[in-house]
Parts: sequence; C-alpha cells; structure tokens
Amino acid sequence: MPYSAKAAIDGSAVNSFAFLEKSARQRGKELALIQGEERYTYAQFRERSLAIGGNLLSMGCRRGDRVAFCLANSPRIMEVIFGCFAAGLVVVPVNARLHAREMAYIVSDSGAKVLVHGLEYQAGIVADAMLFEGVQRICIAPAEGTFPFDMLFDPAHALEQAVESAPEDICWLFYTSGTTGKPKGAMWNHRMVRCVIMNYLADLHNIQPGEVVLHCAPMSHGSGIVALPAVARGAVNAITDTVSFNVDQLLATVERLGVSHIAFMAPTQIIKMLDDYVPGRYDISSLQAICYGGAPIYVEQLRQAMETFGPVFVQLYGQGEAPITITGLTRSAHQRLLAAGDPRIGSAGQVRTDVEARCVGQDDKPLPSGEAGEVVVRGDVVMPGYWNNPEASAEALRGGWLHTGDIGYFDEEGYLFLLDRSKDMIISGGNNVYPREVEEVLIQHPDVVACVVFGIPDDYWGEAVHAVVVAAERGALAAEDVIGFCGQSLAGYKKPKSVDFVDALPVSGYGKVLRREIRDKYWHGRTNRIGGGAKEKSL
Ligand code: AMP
Repeated sequence: MPYSAKAAIDGSAVNSFAFLEKSARQRGKELALIQGEERYTYAQFRERSLAIGGNLLSMGCRRGDRVAFCLANSPRIMEVIFGCFAAGLVVVPVNARLHAREMAYIVSDSGAKVLVHGLEYQAGIVADAMLFEGVQRICIAPAEGTFPFDMLFDPAHALEQAVESAPEDICWLFYTSGTTGKPKGAMWNHRMVRCVIMNYLADLHNIQPGEVVLHCAPMSHGSGIVALPAVARGAVNAITDTVSFNVDQLLATVERLGVSHIAFMAPTQIIKMLDDYVPGRYDISSLQAICYGGAPIYVEQLRQAMETFGPVFVQLYGQGEAPITITGLTRSAHQRLLAAGDPRIGSAGQVRTDVEARCVGQDDKPLPSGEAGEVVVRGDVVMPGYWNNPEASAEALRGGWLHTGDIGYFDEEGYLFLLDRSKDMIISGGNNVYPREVEEVLIQHPDVVACVVFGIPDDYWGEAVHAVVVAAERGALAAEDVIGFCGQSLAGYKKPKSVDFVDALPVSGYGKVLRREIRDKYWHGRTNRIGGGAKEKSL
C-alpha cells in the first residue's frame, strides 16, 4: 500500500479521521449518533472509533489492510469507518442485504483480514465456511467462531490519536452493485473523501452544526457517504431502527427528532413514501432537504413528491467510481424548474463546481449539445482505479476520463439528461430506443403504478420494445391500452410491441429496479442480436 512519508513531512498529510477529531474538539458534548435509545456524543464517538482502530491493529491488521463490514444500519457502521481511518486501514462496506456468498466474494476479492458482521449472517457463513477461511470474524452478538464486537473497545489497545496518512492512501473500497458482472472495488483515497465532504457541503446541501441528518437507506452506500459531511460539520447522524424501510416510522422519527435532512433515498423509497403518506399524521415541517439518486426518478413521480412534501428535494448523480457526485439538481433548481413547467426538472442537473463532464461518441470524441453519448468525467472525485483490476481500471479511465457507462446528453445550458446504462439501450429495427424515455411516458398513465422497459429478441426487429407493468388493479389494463397510450406521445418504433403485467418489480438491496434480471428471462438461450434490422450497439 503506497504511503508517502514525504507527504506526511511536507504538511500535506491528511487522514479523514481529522474531520471527526475536529468535531469532537468543537462539539464534544453534543450528540453525534442516535439510534432508538442509543446515543453517543462526539467525544464518545471519537473515543470508540480510536478504540476500534487500535484493537483492529492489535488483531494483526497493518496499515493498508482491508476490514470489511456487513451490518444493518447502526452507529457501529460509523464507528468502524472512523476506526479504520484512525488506524490507516481500508474499510470495505458490504450491502447488508447481500447473500452470504455474495458477501464472501467481496471479502475474498478485497483480501479482507477482518469481517465485522451481524448475527443474521452467521448461519449463511457457517454453511459456506470454506469461503471465509483465513478471515477473522467479529460478530455483533455472540456466535461460534467469531470474536465479540465489544472486544474492539479494549482500552489496553485503544489509539490515542489517528495515525498519519497521505492524501493518496487508499482508505475505502466501494464495491459496485455488480449489475454488469462481478462487483468491482472502486478505490477511494483520503483526498477523495475530503473532496466528497467539501463538495457535498458546497454544492448540494450545506449541513450545519447540530442539524439532524436521518439515515433510512443502506449506510454501506449513499447514505453512509452523506454521513461524512454530517460528521465534518458536527451534525447529528440519526438512524432509523427498523431493518426494512417503514414510512410511518421514518416520519415519526422526523417529528420526534426535528430532522432537517434525510441523507439519501433511492427513488423507490420516495415512491413508497408517497404511497404510504397520511397527511397531517406527523409534523414534518422541520424537513429542509431530502437527497435522492442512484437511479432515475420519473418526472411525474417527482412532481407528486414535491407537491406532497414541498420543495425539499436535492438530486445527486454519481457512481462508486465518482462519488457524491458528478452532477446535481439543487433544491432551488427543483423549485424553479417545477414552477416554470421546465422539462429540465427531469434532468440530473448541472455538473458540480469542481468536476468536468461531457458526453462522448464511440471514438471518445466530445459530442455537441443535444447529442447522446457516454458520460465521461474527470476531477478529484474520480477514483484512481479498481482494486486489483488493472485491465478494468485502464478501460474505465482511458484517456484520463472516467467512462461511466451511462448514456446521456447535455443541453445548451449544461443540464445532463440521463437516458440509460449503455448496455440497456434497445436497438429495434436499427433504431436506438432508450428505455427511460418510454418509461417516462408509461408512468404517466393513471393505472400504471410501476414499469420497466427493455428489448426482447425478435426475428424481424432484432430487438422488440417490451414493457413489464404493475397496474393499479389486476386486470385494470390491457396491453393495447398501454401501447396506445405510448403512441399518443412517442414515435411508432419506440412504442412497446408487447406488454406483460406483474404484481411487483424486483429491486436490488439499494432500491434499484433490476431491469437486467427481468430482461434476462426473455433472453434465455438467446444471447446474440440476430434478425432483420438489428445492428451492433453503437455504445
Ligand atoms: P452506484 O455505483 O451503485 O451508486 O450506481 C451508479 C449508477 O446509478 C450510475 O452509473 C447511474 O447509472 C445510476 N444513477 C446514479 N444516480 C442517478 C440519477 N440521479 N439518475 C439516474 N441514474 C442514476
């Protein structure tokens, strides 16, 4: 693991623990972490993290070693993250909704020396014990073959202060969702963490000391990242205490704690919040900002959410390879664009202050405004590469730009319209069809609750546009209604050629609709694009 002694000497050394150190000094007696009855002040948070860091070192971890955690949302996640920072270790958050075997892949790929996990994983791990051989396991509750979590608080090994680190030292591996093959570990260094913190405060939401920031999405992902600027500003990170997303409990917590900011929500959570919202049941007037991102939200749903919850929404567009973020749509932009009936309310906003982004064609040459191509990015938010994967790193970072795999276009004023992941684009009869464009129309049908669009094999068209729809009531809609509705505002070749109805769409642990999983069923045994009119994907 590279460690630059020079950087430490010439004053450019930085360890992300410094953000906690400062808040503990300035606001030591103030609350830092809350979940249910569990509460820690900033002084306690600092002390517990230093103890965790020191005890991980005493277990044999050395600077740059990886420590994975797979935990339901709790203060322990924040303590392990800052414990790793303090000890110069690399934290590897794992989505707590993964299967034990999926977790094993990440643990093994990262070469983690220690895995901190919840009791709910014990049975799965024991069933596949050989996948976890050589990994020291720490379990939150007593379990055979594991060390107790409390062992990490042994004062005999606690650090007194964080170790020195250099800006380029890797401190975090963010595993991608793996929707296109096995997950890859995007490496983050301390410089990126600092960048993430400052950018969030400067461009997205300026969290204030003492403000209450609530987490209801997995903290191994976006929500845990938004917790970092909250720590840096000495705000309170409050965590809901149900494992699954519960709107009633969420809004009750907003009222009880005077929450001003919901750290991060996937669009599916916003939709659920709309569905389950009972006006007037709770006083949620303290809410100033709800950050969302990670997947598209359809304009119609965003409009309803803003009408119901007010002008509180902030959109982020980024990915593990360029976290928090590439572009953003601020609260005021949401308000202005909605009021003006401006279609840019459906965009992912403008490029953030210190980021460069553009859309490029197949030859990697920049495209003019309005032309769709792959979104590429450069700046300090971009990862230095994937863990132990030089080929994938070189491919993703070719020419000095991160290739996001997202297709979109910028309008004249630099608003980014995201169309789809390049691999999701449909080529029907030689025409490119972006599923999102069709979904945006479908969702406006009053009887459509959710939908997903993709291409299915077709001997004539190569791929035919197909929609899978969740209707408000079983039998309320027929395929012709759906197709006819699309025909009112879409070109003929974009209209679905067929429609299936289902009761619900599968979503990932991070709330993203699993379009690929649904699509794959239709492609069983048909991997090639064959038939009239089909051409190779141009992106
Ligand atoms: P992850 O690395 O798991 O955070 O996934 C990142 C991917 O999610 C991006 O490459 C996009 O495809 C998608 N994504 C993230 N933010 C947005 C957004 N605001 N709108 C649409 N898609 C998004």
